[in-house]
Amino acid sequence: MDTLSRDAIFLWLIVGVVNTFIGSRVVMLVALLLPIFSILRMFSKETYKRSRENLKYMGFRAKAVDFFKMQYRKVRDVKTHRYFKCRNCCSHIRVKRIKGKHTVCCPKCGKEFAVNIVF
Ligand SMILES: [Zn+2]
Repeated sequence: MDTLSRDAIFLWLIVGVVNTFIGSRVVMLVALLLPIFSILRMFSKETYKRSRENLKYMGFRAKAVDFFKMQYRKVRDVKTHRYFKCRNCCSHIRVKRIKGKHTVCCPKCGKEFAVNIVF
């Protein structure tokens, strides 16, 4: 069982728990496709295609996990720091929350740029 199949089963369980409160038949029927999809993937003879699908999914999943981790850090540090994106390499830079205009140097690419911390 690969990550895509495992996550499909996990999503099916979550939807099942949520659907016990909602009680929708449409959601239940759509959710039933998830374990069927997972089982079909597990017994598929085309392992190369399944592997490629899993790799694509893993890339998407990693981006989603990074996005939510960054959102968590922004909320966690809202009183002490601000986050900016480097205009050159798009990496996230954490800056202490000191009101005013500052010049920030990106630790990844070394390019300097101006930021304005309003509040
Ligand atoms: Zn940079």
